[in-house]
Amino acid sequence: MNLKRLAGLDILSEKYAYAHDAEFGYMAESRVADDWVATTCGYCSVGCGMLVGVKDGRAVAARGDQRHPVNRGKLCPKGLSEHHTIAAGGRAQYPLLRTNGRLERISWDEALAAMVERTCAIQARHGAGAFGVISTGQLVTEEFYALGKLVQLGFGTNNYDGNTTLCMSSAVAGYKRSFGSDGPPGCYDDLAKADVILLIGANIAENHPILCQRLLENPAATLIVADPRVTKTAMMADIFLPVKPRSDIALLNGIAHILIRDGLIDQDYIARHTTGFEDLRAQVSKYTPARVAELTGLDSHQIEQVAMLYGRSQAAFIGWTMGVNHSTQGAETVNAINNLALLTGNIGRPGAAPFSITGQCNAMGTREAGFASGLPGYRKFESAADRAELAVLWNIAPERIPEARGLAYPDIIEAAVAKRVRALWIIATNPMVSFPNHDVLKQALETVEFLVVQDAFHPTPTSELADLILPAAMWGEKEGTYTNSERRVSKVNRAVAPPAEARPDFDIFLDLATRLGMREELFPGWQGPRDAFEEWKRVSAGRLCDYSAMTYEQIEAEGGMQWGGERLYAGGGFATPDARAKLFAIEWEPFPDQPGGEYPFILNTGRTVEHWHTGTKTRAVAILAGMSPRAWLEMNPRDAQRLNLKPHDHVSVISKRSRVDRVELRVTEIIAPGQVFMPFHFVETNSNRVTQSAFDPISREPNFKQCAVKVEKSGVG
Ligand code: SF4
Repeated sequence: MNLKRLAGLDILSEKYAYAHDAEFGYMAESRVADDWVATTCGYCSVGCGMLVGVKDGRAVAARGDQRHPVNRGKLCPKGLSEHHTIAAGGRAQYPLLRTNGRLERISWDEALAAMVERTCAIQARHGAGAFGVISTGQLVTEEFYALGKLVQLGFGTNNYDGNTTLCMSSAVAGYKRSFGSDGPPGCYDDLAKADVILLIGANIAENHPILCQRLLENPAATLIVADPRVTKTAMMADIFLPVKPRSDIALLNGIAHILIRDGLIDQDYIARHTTGFEDLRAQVSKYTPARVAELTGLDSHQIEQVAMLYGRSQAAFIGWTMGVNHSTQGAETVNAINNLALLTGNIGRPGAAPFSITGQCNAMGTREAGFASGLPGYRKFESAADRAELAVLWNIAPERIPEARGLAYPDIIEAAVAKRVRALWIIATNPMVSFPNHDVLKQALETVEFLVVQDAFHPTPTSELADLILPAAMWGEKEGTYTNSERRVSKVNRAVAPPAEARPDFDIFLDLATRLGMREELFPGWQGPRDAFEEWKRVSAGRLCDYSAMTYEQIEAEGGMQWGGERLYAGGGFATPDARAKLFAIEWEPFPDQPGGEYPFILNTGRTVEHWHTGTKTRAVAILAGMSPRAWLEMNPRDAQRLNLKPHDHVSVISKRSRVDRVELRVTEIIAPGQVFMPFHFVETNSNRVTQSAFDPISREPNFKQCAVKVEKSGVG
């Protein structure tokens, strides 16, 4: 601090000066903008509309867009500080190639040539499938659409998946099994219209905070929250169900049991719109309240009360996120949720929906338009008719389109360890922090012959291992669309230019197609994202996710447009061959890595409001990093006393696989005895060092949420 400041003469008047902004009136002078660019938040799938203030070519402010129907002017801490990510340190600026063990700057020409020549050489030696691609939920839909064509038709490999398999693939698989197609049936307005809201494994107050506004609009609703931890969302609940970890299927089957037992089901809806009722009835007959109480740790009267509330409601909503999806039974848990909605006809009506709250800003876009786990437009690899239809639309031979999906994300990693995948392209994701069982992932990335990382940031723990780095533009520097959790397609706009030689992913994909000699075939006449959008409109026409009536201009004017209207499946009409939804008989199973013996605790992992996933962006924003600078481990006071641990002790979290050291202990009743919780954003105390390689056999989503660990005081040092 300088002397004038110490003496009270310097009151930082320049720093705190106010001035008048044409859009927002009086505000900090440093944030008064020359221009405000309307766009959509690039973090989570709530899809808040925002304005980015631009001054002298720099992003200086972010404000909520009052006119946007999703957030009506509000933003959470991440959105409010999102402009800082653009000028954050650690942006990737130049293409880099590893030469003699060092990453050295090269030109874009050299980078694209290296990418195509080395990848194609590996494919020539080991087959097209020796090239694996892992993308993200962070690109715009136009980029996902282009990337899918480039990978599957250009490079000719179907070993392509996204990091969305780490968060939403269980919801996707569950929807497909129950309703015949992916696509969340409800919308945010259902939160404001339901009279009973059941949130399962969904801490929206922390992870989707703007959605809490909709809860506040609906004080008459009964909010029920099922979670093993007393989360911020649980604190908002009228009824909190502190379920044992991964006992949600037992709870859902128990509710179904009571609904059927007491006639609280919609017989007419079941008869007209579903199949599988008798099998379900037989299955849930075993889930008596007494048995469910034992499996879930709840009181049987509480289970009866919740079933009565759900069954007697006029409009009931069930929302879920990662507490459901991050499980070896994730897809089946989604089916058990959908069962309740179908048994009671709580779907396709205002307030009534089973509803997955998506993670990343455009995970929905890659589900719709991507060409990874399905064909674009929710078409199926296995369907000859779907392949033929796409071949006509793309003017290619149908044989070019694979008849089955390739390897899913975890299987690409396993194939890389086994040297069946030898070249890997990682786009806008950071698996060294986000993938479970870190040591196996590291082995995969170190085993492949050629690792390409395309990202807006370098160095990251993943890019440091790369042979080739392609620097990409990020949110705020490029154009396209995102789809949010309620199927609302919103516009994303460029506010500023990317740094140095970083380029939009879209341009990189088109240039790679040029190098492959396929630019005109794959992307005929394309110059920019609008061309991709126009083609995607034709490809999606007549499908459930039909964009054909949308234009960029109308999307901007309306604050986004929902495909499928406000709600799907009003009056039935499911996307199955017989137009009926399928009820599934699901059996509860214990999770794979049970606590006991040397590893007595169940570790649960999750998020905090200040940070986004692997922290690449948010930990570079000073205000967010300052609010939440490091990881912590939550432990119940009884366990802490038994282990002679005190608040703020540094502890080690140790599983059969590896360990995390020097995590700060929080002693709190938020967590039940026998369980511990830590957030997963922090590379230096990476929770994925101890998580396991256990994946849902249907969705391939990892079981991030429960693994057996022990906790001990870290050594001094
Ligand atoms: S709730 Fe999600 S979309 Fe909205 S501002 Fe926060 S991170 Fe962005």
